Amino acid sequence: MPIVTTRVVVLQTYAYSDTSKILRLMTREHGPRSAIARGARRPGSRFGGLIEPFAEGAATLYLREGRELHTLSDFDLVRERQGLGRDLQRFAGASVLSEMVMRLAPEHRDDRLYAALVRGLDELLVAPAGSVEGAALRAIWRLVAILGFAPDLGRCAACGRPLGVDEAASFDFASGGLVCGSCGGGAPRLTGAEIDVLRRLMERGEPPARPGRRQRRLLADFVRYHLAEGTHLRSLGFLERGGEGA
Ligand SMILES: [Zn+2]
Repeated sequence: MPIVTTRVVVLQTYAYSDTSKILRLMTREHGPRSAIARGARRPGSRFGGLIEPFAEGAATLYLREGRELHTLSDFDLVRERQGLGRDLQRFAGASVLSEMVMRLAPEHRDDRLYAALVRGLDELLVAPAGSVEGAALRAIWRLVAILGFAPDLGRCAACGRPLGVDEAASFDFASGGLVCGSCGGGAPRLTGAEIDVLRRLMERGEPPARPGRRQRRLLADFVRYHLAEGTHLRSLGFLERGGEGA
């Protein structure tokens, strides 16, 4: 049973019995892992109140090869990020990032993915009121790209023809990109200006000042279709509703 110490982000925690917690962790060295923190719910536990969602620390784990559940023996807090839990939008954005990593991270070391998760959480933490939603969209799309699902917004996904700057097109979830007017079927139709907002977000990391309802809906549907395999990502609702304080 190898003992490893690795940097981790706590993605989710569940109560287990009266005294313990089950943790979903993104580890920097070993990909996503689940671990039990025995006694973590006891008053005076050595873990204190440190093991909360979005917190980052150096975790010492007993890895049980071939098992789903490992054992946390030590946790040295590096960054707590409790501010994310005090604001609905920040919390929702951080939850989308966590759920995406939980479901989709490869079962091995991925430094870029780990760094993008940490960066996204930190950006959400410090984003000024009024730009939290934009920061969330940017962080989500950074993860989409690293996970390998970024759509090609430059050409038609069906015939390959480059799309004009102001050209309207439809978004086709099955082909994972835009399809031109001659190829498009019943998928949602976007104006050239709406597509431009998506291009700036996805290609240059410029979050829209105030994303329109159709764009938010599209982004949520896209993440759901490609990343959640049809399952329910609870936290995505905020993308569709949008708006500060909504
Ligand atoms: Zn086409």
